[in-house]
Amino acid sequence: MDKVIYADNAATTKMSKAAADALRPYLDGAFGNASSVHSIGRDAKRALESARVKAARAIGAAPDEIYFTSGGTESDNWAIKGTAELLRDRGKHIITTSVEHSAVKNTVGYLEGKGYEATYLCVDEFGRISLDEMRSAMHSDTILISVMTANNEIGTIMPIAKISAAARERGILLHTDAVQAVGHIPLDVKALGCDMLSMSGHKFGAPVGVGALYIRKGLSLPALIHGGGQEHGGRSGTENIAGICALADSLEDVVSNLPQNYLKVTAMRDRLIAGIMNIPHTRLTGDPDNRLPGIASFVFDGVDGDALVRVLDELGICASSGSACSTGSRDPSHVLTAIGLPDGFLHGSLRLSINENNTDGEIDYILETLPAVIKSLREKSPLWKS
Ligand code: PLP
Repeated sequence: MDKVIYADNAATTKMSKAAADALRPYLDGAFGNASSVHSIGRDAKRALESARVKAARAIGAAPDEIYFTSGGTESDNWAIKGTAELLRDRGKHIITTSVEHSAVKNTVGYLEGKGYEATYLCVDEFGRISLDEMRSAMHSDTILISVMTANNEIGTIMPIAKISAAARERGILLHTDAVQAVGHIPLDVKALGCDMLSMSGHKFGAPVGVGALYIRKGLSLPALIHGGGQEHGGRSGTENIAGICALADSLEDVVSNLPQNYLKVTAMRDRLIAGIMNIPHTRLTGDPDNRLPGIASFVFDGVDGDALVRVLDELGICASSGSACSTGSRDPSHVLTAIGLPDGFLHGSLRLSINENNTDGEIDYILETLPAVIKSLREKSPLWKS
């Protein structure tokens, strides 16, 4: 294989043709501030509103329920801090899970430092929460539930529609971080019943630095970023028209191709899982049945995940390991810890995240390469006892 195989699409994706086509006019001279009254400004405004219609349609929302942001992290911060501020006189309790992305986890942690109380729901070995446990955690002070639609490390899909039904009965708002799910599984905000949903363009072919927050009509979330009052006063700052158009066109494209891509990607993922599970002392992480189509994630007993990712890189395979967090710590990730792995497996994680750009030939190469790499790493490893 002389070309590099990119199997790290949960980290970021290559720009899609739809996104590149949407960006091109802005590289070739198109520009404009959507707040300017002249014709160039009005063109920018038209492009912005057309992007809003497309992004809304892709998730079953109305255009005025879509607010463009700089990405998933900002959307998560806005939803959680905005709700905390909006409802601070009603209560100070937030329910979330022990497997959220740091954009949610650390935002809730920040609020705990400001006097809010948080419950982190435990997950089972597959990364699933218990609805009964969630119901028992709700009390009169609970203002928000924030549960991710699908996990970025192990791919487990959460039962958002069921969570929203329980939240609604108690008048509690529901935010879902759908950064890994949008464009990869069918999603409709009305069917999910969430009040807020975060998405990020670079997880579905748009550039890094643009995202959106869906806010259900009728919910008036205080602004996180103050300034000139753009985005209906919700999110100030001159709009990133080029990025927003790329997000909307890429999203429209992935959603329209979702049925066939879902089948193609799921089939490749299942081949990866079936093949890799033949390697001795290997466990699949995440829900075996209800998981994102593109995430095949494993732990290998007695293997150092960081070393594994480095060797795979030398062999032309880009993947990632959940064993090191973004700050470079060598502690196992909070997600791997939460699913209760035995010690020997905790440092040996591998996430292969694929999408429609991957090919069967690439899957063959990964399956041919990985067993020997694991064997040789184990032979050299002080962690390996067998
Ligand atoms: N939430 C989840 C589940 C993610 O996987 C990520 C990024 O990996 C984020 C939030 C943050 O998104 P962004 O990189 O757009 O800030």
